[in-house]
Amino acid sequence: MQITFWGVRGSIPSPGPATMGIGGNTSCVEMRAGKAILIFDGGTGLRLLGKKLTKEGGPIVAHMFFSHVHWDHIQGFPFFEPAFVKGNEFHLYGGNNVSRTLEETLAGQMDHPNFPVDLGAMGAAMTFNDLPEGGSVDIDDGGGGQVRVTTARGNHPQGVFAFRVEHAGKVAVYATDTEHYDGRIDDKLAALAKNADVFIYDSQYTPEEYAARKGWGHSTYEEGVKLAKLAGAKRLVLFHHDPTQNDDAVREKEKRAKALFPNVVAAYEGLTIEA
Ligand SMILES: [Zn+2]
Ligand SMILES: [Zn+2]
Repeated sequence: MQITFWGVRGSIPSPGPATMGIGGNTSCVEMRAGKAILIFDGGTGLRLLGKKLTKEGGPIVAHMFFSHVHWDHIQGFPFFEPAFVKGNEFHLYGGNNVSRTLEETLAGQMDHPNFPVDLGAMGAAMTFNDLPEGGSVDIDDGGGGQVRVTTARGNHPQGVFAFRVEHAGKVAVYATDTEHYDGRIDDKLAALAKNADVFIYDSQYTPEEYAARKGWGHSTYEEGVKLAKLAGAKRLVLFHHDPTQNDDAVREKEKRAKALFPNVVAAYEGLTIEA
């Protein structure tokens, strides 16, 4: 399984000279399993992934999983070029949420007067799937195998799903936008991350920053290390960096995490990991 990071930032894009090393685009992670293309979240990083997929040539078939529908996880979708191309095929999965389906939310952000063209102008074939908590989906890997994606609920305002991706004996877990609990471990995430080869975790804050942001739905590298150790994860990826953290701050966060768990990396745009 090959994992590529297209957007690693939380909350709002943060471009500029101070964030050029890590990147300023919001959440978007690509996973390749055999011939299957899986995409996790549609933050502004999705626009760049779209350009790459277009260059690879089509028709493009991909499976897109939305952890939740806060802006920083859907805002790249209206700028995802392959979705406008007839003959491409996208299977979209969401459904942690309450009152609206994924389709209604993605259509809603493109509604008049917020956007010049509506969802119906996208020419690609799309299927919308609202997943239940604990549910799983099997995807053909194009080589006689299957990719299994399983959900678990995280701890975030309006809800969030984390995803476990299994293919050919390898496991990657994508757990963003989740806040740890005070004094107890998140059993659902610990179970989801069990023996993961790659564990991507919401490490938006340092412990000092977190102290002033309790209840905002995000976590720290320290809590990521705790979960990674407990779950027996091999590699931890710090993800969803706070927009106020410049390159130096993210690297300092990584250094502090490394002192607790050697196999850790702070995600940056363009990072590719083989699980
Ligand atoms: Zn977010
Ligand atoms: Zn969120």
